Amino acid sequence: MPRSCIGVNIKMRVIVIGGGAAGYFAAIVAKSKSPKTTVTILEKTMQPLAKVRVSGGGRCNVTHHCFEIPKLLKAYPRGFLALQGPLHRFQPRDMVAWLQERGVELKKEPDGRMFPVTNSSQTIIHCFTEEANRLGVSLRLGAEVVRVEKLATWVVHLASGEVLEAEKILVATGSASKAHGWIRDLGHSIVPPVPSLFTLTIDDKRLQDLAGVSVADVEVKVGKFHQRGPLLITHWGVSGPAILKLSAWAARELHSLEYHADLIVNWLPNEHQETLRASLQKKRQIVPRQVISSEPLGGLPKQLWKKLVDAAGITKECVFSQLSRDLGEKLIKELLQGSFSSIGKSTHKEEFVTCGGVELDEIHFRRMESKRCPGLHFAGEVLDVDGITGGYNFQNAWTSAWIAAHAMVDEESFL
Ligand SMILES: Cc1cc2nc3c(=O)[nH]c(=O)nc-3n(C[C@H](O)[C@H](O)[C@H](O)COP(=O)(O)OP(=O)(O)OC[C@H]3O[C@@H](n4cnc5c(N)ncnc54)[C@H](O)[C@@H]3O)c2cc1C
Repeated sequence: MPRSCIGVNIKMRVIVIGGGAAGYFAAIVAKSKSPKTTVTILEKTMQPLAKVRVSGGGRCNVTHHCFEIPKLLKAYPRGFLALQGPLHRFQPRDMVAWLQERGVELKKEPDGRMFPVTNSSQTIIHCFTEEANRLGVSLRLGAEVVRVEKLATWVVHLASGEVLEAEKILVATGSASKAHGWIRDLGHSIVPPVPSLFTLTIDDKRLQDLAGVSVADVEVKVGKFHQRGPLLITHWGVSGPAILKLSAWAARELHSLEYHADLIVNWLPNEHQETLRASLQKKRQIVPRQVISSEPLGGLPKQLWKKLVDAAGITKECVFSQLSRDLGEKLIKELLQGSFSSIGKSTHKEEFVTCGGVELDEIHFRRMESKRCPGLHFAGEVLDVDGITGGYNFQNAWTSAWIAAHAMVDEESFL
């Protein structure tokens, strides 16, 4: 008898499109909540959880040790309003507990990032695959979805020509832009995707030969965006948490400028012009014979200080007693408002994401369900949600997947 004629007591079928972080987690949660439901993951590649494997430099930064929702929301340049409700239902603490219940211990690093104690993403992959196998989630690899349509049930077309049916669909295709075509055909709008979490390419004398030098606390600005944190000078320009956070918040603006922007760096954000002027004056009086280029102010690395002194037009041999008022002001400007021209971006190997995706206004975040097509759910990076670096992107995947999974199997008619 065809399933649609059975009416009640049919076994519900859930198809999860995408075997990445969000898809895999949603499939496990749905199957554990409703063991009778048939849950199938369709993954287009032969390697499920591929991003989890390479994440966090192979260590997998699973989540962030931040359990206060208002604080957590500040880590999402896109999605902070929409994620408020979902994070109250499944937040980092819940993911830590979920993994712990399955024998995976996480550790917290000083900056709040959380990794498996094994320092290996394989631990997470092993946990997910074991759990999915134990529960009976079926996984189909090499199964690329090319079209989805709503008839009496959901009809899913694979690239192979095969057609599958389901009562509920979860789209968890990540940043794959090929999927945007059939998502649009279902009536959804896609906010144009652009990269987030990148480093900036800068060709500037002041940074030459300083690769590897880091400063613990700087303020960086591009237009109206500013961020604070550690900065790392690289072979190609600048990186580190301050730059990555800035790249996330200013992702769209930098993209529209084709990554040619004025980056303003305050190397000493705890200092004011006045206090620096006073410090220089004090040096003139107390150590007049000391060579300026060998006496960094504010604990700056010596090599960087030398470059900034040089950029201010102060000679290598100049001593404090010779420092003119004019050159002193130029040095203060270099320290507090150094202007660098970025000429491009490079990928940060440990983590990058796409900003853009399915328009958030079209989703019921209580159920991660389409407002356009009931029974169609979304989770993870396919949505226009992305976080700064530090485990927030995976947390978006876990949270949205958990909500979608519960919503999909909550129907009482499917027993
Ligand atoms: C190098 C790197 C390191 C990262 N490290 C971290 C980190 O340490 N911490 C962190 O929080 N975030 C990290 N991220 C970001 C994080 O990996 C993503 O935010 C997260 O994987 C998103 O999960 P997702 O399930 O939505 O998408 P994905 O993990 O990308 O999964 C989507 C899946 O869908 C499949 N798919 C796509 N289209 C189709 C289709 N038509 N049919 C069938 N299958 C399809 C894809 O093949 C893929 O397997 C990193 C990203 C990168 C690139």
